[in-house]
Amino acid sequence: MNDHIDLNRLRDPSFIAAVEAQSGQNVSTCYQCGNCTAGCPAGFAYDMPVSQIMRGVQLGLRDSVLHSRSIWMCLSCSTCSQRCPNNIDVAAVMETLRHMARKAGYVTVPKMEKFWLSFLNTVRLFGRSHEIGTMALYMMRSLRVFTDVDLAPTAIAKGKLGLLPHIPPGGAKPVARIFQRYKERARREGVRP
Ligand code: SF4
Ligand code: SF4
Repeated sequence: MNDHIDLNRLRDPSFIAAVEAQSGQNVSTCYQCGNCTAGCPAGFAYDMPVSQIMRGVQLGLRDSVLHSRSIWMCLSCSTCSQRCPNNIDVAAVMETLRHMARKAGYVTVPKMEKFWLSFLNTVRLFGRSHEIGTMALYMMRSLRVFTDVDLAPTAIAKGKLGLLPHIPPGGAKPVARIFQRYKERARREGVRP
C-alpha cells in the first residue's frame, strides 16, 4: 500500500506570493529561528506555532494555514514582529491570513470572528472602540450572556471600562466613511465584507 503523503498535491505555489503581496512582508526570508514562537503569549492556544505558520506559507500549504486555529487566536500583540531577526512583521502576516481565511469562507474559531465584528461595529458607530459596547454586541452574537460579567465591577472601578463611548473631536462620520468605502470595494470584488 502506498501510504506516503504527496506534499506537492497539498501545495499552492501562488500562496506565498499572495500573502507577501497582501501583507507587504517578505515571508521567504524566514529561516525558522523560532524567536516568534518563543515569545508568543497566545501560543498555548495555537494548533500550529506561529513559526510553523510561516513555514506553511513558504511551502504553499494554503489549506492547512487558512484552516488553523492559530490565525484566529492571535492577539495582534506584535511581540513576534519585535523579535524577528529578519524584520518580518509577523503580526501583519497573521492579520493577512485571517482576512484571507475569512474571504475564503474558513472561520475556524467562529467566536473570535463574532468578537472581531463586535469590536469593529463599535468603531464604526462611535469613531473609536467602546469596550462595553463591544462586550454587549459579542454577548448578543455569541449568546454567551454571562461571559466575564464578574470582572466588570473591578474593571469599571479601575477606569478600564468607560460606560459612555468616547467620540473623537471630528465626530464618528469620517470613520464610518472608511467602513463604507471598504464595504463598497468588497462588493465590487465579490468578497465577504
Ligand atoms: S502577534 Fe499573534 S503571533 Fe505574534 S506574538 Fe502576538 S499573539 Fe503571537
Ligand atoms: S522570528 Fe522571524 S525568522 Fe524567526 S521563525 Fe519567526 S518569522 Fe521566521
